[in-house]
Amino acid sequence: MDYKVIIDEIHKNLRETDNPGKVAEYIPELAKVDPDKFGVHISEVNGGAYGTGNYRDKFSIQSIVKVLSLALTYKLRGESIWSRLGYEPSGTAFNSLVQLESDRGIPKNPLINAGALVICDILISILDDPEQDFLDFVREVSDNESIEYSMNIAASERVAGYLNIALCNFIKSFGNIENDTDQVLDFYFKSCSIELSCEELSKTFLFFANGGQKPGTGGQVLTVSQVKRINAIMQTCGFYDESGDFAFRVGLPGKSGIGGGIVDVHPGKYSIAVWSPRLNKKGNSYLAMEFLEQFTTKTQMSIF
Ligand code: GLN
Repeated sequence: MDYKVIIDEIHKNLRETDNPGKVAEYIPELAKVDPDKFGVHISEVNGGAYGTGNYRDKFSIQSIVKVLSLALTYKLRGESIWSRLGYEPSGTAFNSLVQLESDRGIPKNPLINAGALVICDILISILDDPEQDFLDFVREVSDNESIEYSMNIAASERVAGYLNIALCNFIKSFGNIENDTDQVLDFYFKSCSIELSCEELSKTFLFFANGGQKPGTGGQVLTVSQVKRINAIMQTCGFYDESGDFAFRVGLPGKSGIGGGIVDVHPGKYSIAVWSPRLNKKGNSYLAMEFLEQFTTKTQMSIF
């Protein structure tokens, strides 16, 4: 399959269409990003790779990191993590508080903010140096020692982080946060601030397309079963209350972030990352979703 021709054609056509989306402004630092950036990069399990547009520009991956923090926690703690959070779609916004009261502080899944905060709490309890150890894990799976947190973005989110602060305290009131809430929030904001380009992001997620193994290196990050489950969670929960729509239109497991990135995985074939900062009303990149819908339609390949 010649992905290059299809990627170039869709990218060119979409560049010229109107984009009704809006850049996230509740994190002041993110509002400074050029809204018209548009990059795409595919990394294939068999070693093929191709990118177009701003595919080498770094951007804030935000909630996409939740998949990586889940991966490390699942690797270290196995099935025991499911006593602290669920794996059902929430049908609510990424930062919603509403279900936590009736669910007694057990978040619906690890890809909403509430669940990601509990995952950060578990990592703090088991790692010696959570911020450094998590960064080392991301660097290892991506084969990229240059990956860093963005202190500016983390600080900017901390200042305006009222809702996440409320979520963390609310969960703690039910006894489902073990550590100090400030420590959990700092780690959460830092993890969300990691910056990657589309090229780096698609490469990082390749092990989800390859049965848990980093292609070419033989390094097994997760078991086949763990990757099956994380891909299932991406499919059902990766786009919050737009996960059904995403599955309907695109048909691949993936994850979005408020920085405008989306990464998708086609098991056995590829990982693809698309970045365009203007978001739709659900907080998912408008153009990245359009791109991926056209991509799976034109290639006639999805998991369905
Ligand atoms: N750091 C962001 C937040 O907590 C992540 C949200 C997102 O990317 N959807 O609000």
